[in-house]
Amino acid sequence: MKSAQELRALLQSIDHKSYPAYKSTQGCYRFPDYLLSIDHVQGDPFASPSRVSIHIDGKTAGFPAELFNSRPKQTALQDHLTRLFYTEIEKYNFKAKGSGKSGLLSVSRCGQEILERSACSLNPADGSLVLRMQIGFPAGGRTIHAGELIRILYDFLPGCVTSSLMYRNLDKRKCQAVRALCEDQEYIRAQLKEQGLIAFIANGAVLPRLSGVSERPMRQAVPFQSPPSMEFTMELPNHGPLKGMGIRKGITLVVGGGFHGKSTLLKALERGVYNHISGDGREYVITDASAVKLRAEDSRSISNVDISLFINHLPGGRNTRGFSTEDASGSTSQAANVIEGLESGTSLFLIDEDTSATNFMIRDELMQSVVADREEPITPFISRVRSLYDEAGISSVIVAGSSGSYFHTADVIIQMKEYLPFDITAKAREKAASFGGAVRAAEAFRIPAFNRRPKPTSSLQNFDRLKMKVLGKEAIQINRSTTDLRYLEQLVDSEQLAALSYLLVYASKHLMDGRRTLTDIVLELERRMDSQGLASLSDSSYLASDLCRPRRQEIFACFDRCRELQFN
Ligand code: ADP
Ligand code: MG
Repeated sequence: MKSAQELRALLQSIDHKSYPAYKSTQGCYRFPDYLLSIDHVQGDPFASPSRVSIHIDGKTAGFPAELFNSRPKQTALQDHLTRLFYTEIEKYNFKAKGSGKSGLLSVSRCGQEILERSACSLNPADGSLVLRMQIGFPAGGRTIHAGELIRILYDFLPGCVTSSLMYRNLDKRKCQAVRALCEDQEYIRAQLKEQGLIAFIANGAVLPRLSGVSERPMRQAVPFQSPPSMEFTMELPNHGPLKGMGIRKGITLVVGGGFHGKSTLLKALERGVYNHISGDGREYVITDASAVKLRAEDSRSISNVDISLFINHLPGGRNTRGFSTEDASGSTSQAANVIEGLESGTSLFLIDEDTSATNFMIRDELMQSVVADREEPITPFISRVRSLYDEAGISSVIVAGSSGSYFHTADVIIQMKEYLPFDITAKAREKAASFGGAVRAAEAFRIPAFNRRPKPTSSLQNFDRLKMKVLGKEAIQINRSTTDLRYLEQLVDSEQLAALSYLLVYASKHLMDGRRTLTDIVLELERRMDSQGLASLSDSSYLASDLCRPRRQEIFACFDRCRELQFN
């Protein structure tokens, strides 16, 4: 291993040479408190910045084991450190000058959710720490400005590292608060299972966000308050007793006038699959981690999905047991989303009328009497939601403000009034009984066999000249094929999409042999990420510093939407 002095001498020797001479700096160097590894050097000052990692041994990092002795706590600590480091390097971003991306210093930017990222990984075995970042190596035009890189590596970075990644210099109360919150959140998750709940929303929680483009909490929002009949007390290990609304397994209907906060409640439940940071307002909004938001998704592709539970007897006798299309309608897409959600192992569907296909959700009595059932290919969700729970154990939370049809079949009916929930189950049931129009029986309920086997097309398998690109939270591009993910509303970070593209490539290269089922493949990918971290996704010698682990449900959903996979 070379010393920091050797790197400095090397940099001085390439000063004012042309940019590619920077390549010679690749390697690992011993600094007083850490190892600095230059993993990948950019080709020119305008290319995506160079990748650098900082390795701190367990003794120097000094984090007490209680901060990371479970997977969720480890993730929470890593997340905390990434945020601290981000704040530190922001002070020096572009302080070193030059052309293009010269002087850029960046690390993953964490949002409201606490997620596992490649940016920071702590080894639970010995407490050692790796921080992965990007640096724009400075140049004037295309001429190396070594002096500027020396400023970054010797004047800026060491201070950032010591003040944000070493326990002895951190605010210990904050570190303990991160641990305590995580323990409380995990406690609620465990209690959901124990008490037969699918979600818990604490009294006092702030559900609405600041704006359509900001995930921060709304100021002066009406704080959440459980109806007395649904109130549970959670005895949190750190916070102490906490009251809130528990939603039991089964079918929950959310009604209420427009603008009374129905969608906001559902959105909070969608995001409750993740833990949130302190101050978010949704710290104690915890949902079954497998929950899937179900919506219509016109024009998505579907490959060999058995949607016969919902769609049957199509004109022309088209088969719906192995349904494929390049351009799905609202109802067929939503039907496929249910079936694929089941395949991904979910136990909770979250549905908002705002984003559903009406003909998928209901079919009113008048229509049933005019158009005979046998002339209607769609069995609406309302005719299946009861069996989904009774026979498959899948709960549903359904927001429906404009149709009373679900009154008959719901276990609990919540009305949102001025942003507060009221339990109107008894009253609504009574009204429904006198109103008639109970849900009609549908054809027999049968969960399809999940043995689809994906195979990549040749375009996806062109691994030699692999081009990968992430388009925000909208889509991923691999070579020429684009997979549209914009309607996966539980993807919260573009780094999750980056990881999905690595997973897709890894799976098509190593796992999709036409024999393994989709489920086998996803489980195998998860085993790899569990045991070897996100790093194991990348075949290149350096790891992209900007990956974030997606849930199992989104891995399934991404593969299901990839047009370059054929399912047999
Ligand atoms: P609905 O789905 O019932 O039509 P939304 O959930 O879309 O209503 O909410 C309507 C508006 O009210 C949104 O702009 C939202 O930000 C705001 N809102 C939601 N919940 C609250 C709350 N608890 N306090 C203040 N404003 C809220
Ligand atoms: Mg709404």
